Amino acid sequence: MCAAVYAARNGADVTIIEKNTQLGKKLSMTGNGRCNISNLDMNEKRYNAAAEKRMKEWLSVYGVLDVIRFMRSLGIVVKSEDGYLYPVSGQATTVVDAFKNELGRLGVEVIYGEQAKSINVLDDTLDEPGNERYLVITNQNSYEADRVIIATGGLSGAKTTMSTGDGYYICKKLGLTIKDTYPALVGFKADPDEIMPENGVRCTANISFLLGTEVIAKEYGELQLTKDGISGIPVMQASGKVVKFLAEGKPIYASINFFPDYDDDDYAGLTKEMMRLRDDRSLEEFLNGIHNSQINEMIIRRTKMSRTMKMKNISESMVQSIFENYRNYKLKLADTNGYQQSQVTSGGVSLGDIRDDMTIVSNNGIFVVGELVDVDGRCGGYNLQWAFTSGAIAGTVASI
Ligand SMILES: Cc1cc2nc3c(=O)[nH]c(=O)nc-3n(C[C@H](O)[C@H](O)[C@H](O)COP(=O)(O)OP(=O)(O)OC[C@H]3O[C@@H](n4cnc5c(N)ncnc54)[C@H](O)[C@@H]3O)c2cc1C
Repeated sequence: MCAAVYAARNGADVTIIEKNTQLGKKLSMTGNGRCNISNLDMNEKRYNAAAEKRMKEWLSVYGVLDVIRFMRSLGIVVKSEDGYLYPVSGQATTVVDAFKNELGRLGVEVIYGEQAKSINVLDDTLDEPGNERYLVITNQNSYEADRVIIATGGLSGAKTTMSTGDGYYICKKLGLTIKDTYPALVGFKADPDEIMPENGVRCTANISFLLGTEVIAKEYGELQLTKDGISGIPVMQASGKVVKFLAEGKPIYASINFFPDYDDDDYAGLTKEMMRLRDDRSLEEFLNGIHNSQINEMIIRRTKMSRTMKMKNISESMVQSIFENYRNYKLKLADTNGYQQSQVTSGGVSLGDIRDDMTIVSNNGIFVVGELVDVDGRCGGYNLQWAFTSGAIAGTVASI
């Protein structure tokens, strides 16, 4: 939609082929229905390592201020919440509606309910490099075009959004390299043998992800623990660095520190205090003053202590073992929660096949943008920023 608006504003005659019966289904679900459009803390480090260098250049061409200006041009006023940008309306659907209005005003034709399948270069234009024409073949028709922008998205939220990864097949047929894809910005299932809370619990924690003993990602924030696994912003933020190893069957552990503000001295102090306060209370009663009852229950079960044991009978090594678990609650991860629960796709069309103007290296008239490309950002508006950046560049260049 962004590419179409830019191309049409430059005077191009634009047609969108949309598989769904509506435009912007995924956009309407973003930010818990509030649409986190972008972020004032914008830089290339917020994206996957493979994309950082290219993102620096792309963001210098079309960055967060350009998105704010573009939104304003669509009639959307944007506000910042600690740097996270949202429409003031607080409704993602207003952004989708603004796009639809602008596309209508610009005379962009939208063909609904047709699935693009492949793109062919028209034979009689093959010997005119730079001036080729294309045939976009759908499940029902074929359409001729001077330029084609492939913006079919990735696989995140596939079942509800109709973004089912078709673009990977289209691009593969064009000879492009597709980097292996994984769900990212996603929660994880814990190994079934792990001790987890019976009911869901949220808490602020530090969480590290380990490949064997090597720390591969570290985050802080509000963690969600369920009886099946872990999620929440810090888990999603780290997921991009973890999913590949998990898919390869490597042993991945999450280590949770339930007292994120405590250093070694604080822990030692707490242990001492606990020893000093030992009395007739049960272990369960005692721990209820220390942390959330569901987290305490996990720790009691893991240390195999009796919840009814009197505190006065507890040894110093037992107390140390309890605090070691608050500090380093290690969980083996079994899998991600899958594409449907993910917010972005890691992997996709290789950046090596994409030029700075978003055309593919093998052809000047075919562009690839958005989630389909091997670019994925952190939570916080970075993925929509990428969709807008790549869409704006492609739409502008395609209309020249
Ligand atoms: C639940 C959820 C919440 C999110 N929240 C945020 C957020 O707050 N901030 C943020 O930055 N990012 C967020 N994201 C990520 C963001 O939505 C995506 O990165 C972004 O929508 C990708 O844009 P896109 O245009 O590349 O693909 P999409 O938005 O997926 O659009 C692709 C379009 O192509 C159509 N299509 C697919 N295949 C075909 C075909 N073969 N023929 C014709 N049409 C086809 C689809 O129907 C769809 O309309 C969220 C994602 C999810 C799932």
